[in-house]
Amino acid sequence: MSKAKEYMKKLRKKRKEKGLCTRCGKKAIEGKTECEACKNYRIQYKEKKSKQKKEPKIIRELKTWEVSNPVLYKKMLETGTTTKDLSVLTGVSQRNVERWIFENADPNDENALKVNEYFKCEIFKL
Ligand SMILES: [Zn+2]
Repeated sequence: MSKAKEYMKKLRKKRKEKGLCTRCGKKAIEGKTECEACKNYRIQYKEKKSKQKKEPKIIRELKTWEVSNPVLYKKMLETGTTTKDLSVLTGVSQRNVERWIFENADPNDENALKVNEYFKCEIFKL
């Protein structure tokens, strides 16, 4: 156990013995280990959390790992080419290279040509 954890454990024990709230050190509710304020806070927090869970998810994950350009993907695997390599080759970010593979995005003509030449294959139509 870390020193901080040990310290907090001792502190909570001391407060409990004195009838104080183990969270904030103020007078606890008779027979309880927490004060009114901390109790209310805990209940509110719990309600808020359960509400958040019930809310429907309306925004999809931005990053999908479905391959939208299987030709490019296959060539990369075959040749051991990473998104970093293509990023260096074309001067665009790795995130942009990922978009070519997974999000159906195409590079500009100049970079399309670079990639096609690199793989000696028509990955992107020009
Ligand atoms: Zn308290």
